[in-house]
Amino acid sequence: MYKATIGIEVHAQIKTKTKMFCGCKVEFLGKPNMNICPVCMGEPGILPRINGRAVKLAVRTALALHAKINMRSIFARKNYFYPDLPKGYQITQSIPLAEGGYVEIYTENGKKKIAITRLHIEEDAGKLFHTAEGHSFVDFNRSGVPLMEIVSEPVIENEKEAVAYLRRLRQILRYVESSDADMEKGQFRCEPNISVSKEEKRGIKTEVKNLNSLKAVERAIKYEISRQKEVIEDGGTVIQQTMLWDEKKQMAIPMREKEGVAEYRYFKEPDLIPLFLHDEDIDEQRKYIPELPNEKFDRLIVQYGIKKEEAEILVDSPDIASYFEKSVGSGCSPKYAIGWITTDILGELNKAGKKFSHIKIKPSHLADLNKLIDNKTINMNIAKKILHSIIFTGESVIDYVKVNNLAQVTDENAIENAVKEVIEENVKEVERYMNGEEKLFGFFVGQVMKKMKGKANPGVVNKMLKDILNRR
Ligand SMILES: [Zn+2]
Repeated sequence: MYKATIGIEVHAQIKTKTKMFCGCKVEFLGKPNMNICPVCMGEPGILPRINGRAVKLAVRTALALHAKINMRSIFARKNYFYPDLPKGYQITQSIPLAEGGYVEIYTENGKKKIAITRLHIEEDAGKLFHTAEGHSFVDFNRSGVPLMEIVSEPVIENEKEAVAYLRRLRQILRYVESSDADMEKGQFRCEPNISVSKEEKRGIKTEVKNLNSLKAVERAIKYEISRQKEVIEDGGTVIQQTMLWDEKKQMAIPMREKEGVAEYRYFKEPDLIPLFLHDEDIDEQRKYIPELPNEKFDRLIVQYGIKKEEAEILVDSPDIASYFEKSVGSGCSPKYAIGWITTDILGELNKAGKKFSHIKIKPSHLADLNKLIDNKTINMNIAKKILHSIIFTGESVIDYVKVNNLAQVTDENAIENAVKEVIEENVKEVERYMNGEEKLFGFFVGQVMKKMKGKANPGVVNKMLKDILNRR
């Protein structure tokens, strides 16, 4: 039996207005090379200055990850040449801001803690663009943008756990507002290292880069595990290297053999003194930590009796979770609220290509719909119709029912007449039904509902149909 061992490095962009060591603006899609200065361009004689806000947000993140914060951490230079790195080195940390900690995930076998090795602060490099004509361009706007590198222990066993870990980690960053962690904008970059082995000892690992979505991470890990297994099965050895994920070809392509640590010639950043933290700095950040995703997940299930998958949807977006809780608070049953939100509202948003913040329908609308169902003014089908109609208008439910004459007909005479008509109009179907074709009952219900323009109380329709058909 082969066992896969996976560790993941994440680079998350810290949500600051300015860069890590200078006052240049942090901006996505700014005009190229507009947000630069001598410091982030590495011109001679420059002096970096630490962005205090970035440190605070990194401390907050470390707390949310249950990590131990180092009261003294050290900035260091990692030396290498690359066209997107004008300084010739990157400032990172040799003693990290924090060590240890974990992210708890849910697997098929229950809860599992994915241990964190360390969290350190560093600066980002620029960005290269290559044209089809063979020209290359470089944009230094991203040079010096603050990053947190979060490294996991190699304790992840498959692609599913990897995705669960990354999803939870991303949620935590968003909950504590230390990063927007948008993968498409490169604010949350994941580099898994993967090895397989038949023995206890870990096999030779490869690293995969260029993963722009969690789906890509999942596919790349799956691909790499089976590729390495095949190499070993065929009697070969896995080479330690960095691979690039090709989303179009759905395969990982070797990029370069991995550099050893020594080749970067790390040394202390001579222009920065050690970063000292005080207890007050840490206590201050503790105050900004809200209910975290795992706590929310457990609470929602216990408090509202919703399913795990439903809770997962709510946890992924605190806005939606809060909307759900407000709906229940206004008097909507949790069962109706979760169904309407996750199926109807999110479905409609998906279709329209809009965001949750675009909806006009309020939690109180859901409570109103629930009330009208309870007092038998409308049935579930009509409720859904109304819901879909008012998502982007926020019209009053009561008015909508009045204006569109949607109140349910519970008048038994009207329903009885419709039932009789349907039976008269469908003699053949009635005969088949009487001969045992019971599934036709649904057809009769449909026909009666059609005659009643969908407004008949389905309970009454069912009962009446059964009574009349059985009397024959
Ligand atoms: Zn700058």
